[in-house]
Amino acid sequence: SHIKDVQFVKSSARARDCPKDNRPEFAVLGRSNVGKSSLINSLVRKKEIALTSKKPGKTQLINHFLVNKSCFAKAPEAAKTDWSSFTKGYFLNKSTLVAVLLLIDASVPPQKIDLDCANWLGRNNIPITFVFTKCDKMKVAKGKRPDENIRDFQELIRQNYKQHPPWIMTSSATGMGRDELLLHMSQLRNY
Ligand code: GDP
Repeated sequence: SHIKDVQFVKSSARARDCPKDNRPEFAVLGRSNVGKSSLINSLVRKKEIALTSKKPGKTQLINHFLVNKSCFAKAPEAAKTDWSSFTKGYFLNKSTLVAVLLLIDASVPPQKIDLDCANWLGRNNIPITFVFTKCDKMKVAKGKRPDENIRDFQELIRQNYKQHPPWIMTSSATGMGRDELLLHMSQLRNY
């Protein structure tokens, strides 16, 4: 699980513009501000390889990165109400996809959009790993703690999966879960 080399490949607005090769690919998926860029930057230990655009309503892009010999796709935001056919089509037609890393903010209660997304991926038999982000945020005003939010999320998901997907608690701020996630990814790749 050693990362030796990272390159930004390209941003694509359409599926047919995405890089065409047979490298195994991980997709990093999640709503805006969940921590996708931060996670990628923390995994590859490079500042700002995965720049985010803070402008809402921007064209949806899939950003591709090459990490060692694997491909990394930072998928478009799971859009506010439903996610685009572009994104869905991308996952359905991707034979090289090892897994979707679905990022879920552990500092907030379960969000409908995340549950919908997880259930859609499950229904379509797309391999998924839940990556809970912002687990360092232990003091959430009025709200529950990250571990409680995670438990609530898992409970809501349980009914829709025969086998509960693997899940990992992370923080890009502290590095929590980084090694575990990299090990998990290398195990999935070699499976
Ligand atoms: P993206 O839109 O999904 O790519 O999200 P970003 O990576 O741009 O992160 C959105 C905001 O959340 C930024 O202000 C980050 O600094 C913050 N953030 C991301 N990950 C963490 C984390 O693990 N812990 C904390 N405390 N903040 C985080």
